[in-house]
Amino acid sequence: MNRAIIRCGLQLSNGAFGLSKSKLSLLTGVATATASGYPLIPLYFPLAPKCCYSTNVRVRSYLQYIKRKIRAPSCPPYNHVCQVGDPVLRSQAANVDPATISGLEVQGVIKTMVKVMRRLECVGLSAPQVGVPLRIVALEYPEKMMEESSPASREARGLSVQPLRIFVNPTVRVLDGRTVLFQEACESISGFSATVPRYLSVEVSGLNENAEPVRWQVSGWPARIIQHEMDHLDGLLYVDRMDSKTFINVKWETHNE
Ligand SMILES: [Zn+2]
Repeated sequence: MNRAIIRCGLQLSNGAFGLSKSKLSLLTGVATATASGYPLIPLYFPLAPKCCYSTNVRVRSYLQYIKRKIRAPSCPPYNHVCQVGDPVLRSQAANVDPATISGLEVQGVIKTMVKVMRRLECVGLSAPQVGVPLRIVALEYPEKMMEESSPASREARGLSVQPLRIFVNPTVRVLDGRTVLFQEACESISGFSATVPRYLSVEVSGLNENAEPVRWQVSGWPARIIQHEMDHLDGLLYVDRMDSKTFINVKWETHNE
């Protein structure tokens, strides 16, 4: 990741200083010369298409354009996971009225969360991640995923098979205040990962999908998953808790190939 940033920086500098002042002014429309004769690098520089840092520019493929023309825009609960930058991921999710849990609306949100979680083969998901700012989380660690992990990883991370669990309006109580560091990722920060400290053992209380009270004491990896998902309900992401020096693009090696 660092190397990519350095490469982008060099392209931008070469582009700016490789041109005459007059040509630079023509192309950018905002570049001016300093008293020493060197051009100022403009805030907006259109000659660096590979390194666009602007968040105001939306680039859609032609296929996306046609799709949008044919189909109405989708609305929450989405069949995709919202990405960092979406305000819903930074909002405080609201409690669900227990009387509405059995209703079509909340059941529809839960059904979509489970569907998306299984399709993406992730082990936990929160309602805000499908665009719904309600306090609902889902968690599942299937046998298949366990079989794909090494015995050493199971031991070190405290992996265990977990059936599907839904928590509505969950609260967490720390049972063991010691923290452990492991690499974790999030479907809402697609393509990145970092080391995050999490408590060893917690107790989760709330309601299940049938509005029945549930309480679950858990340690190891499932305890990490539930802490991660609980953070989503308060508008927190793992990047707010991570050791920033461990933050990586999970495909950084392939960029050098
Ligand atoms: Zn997440």
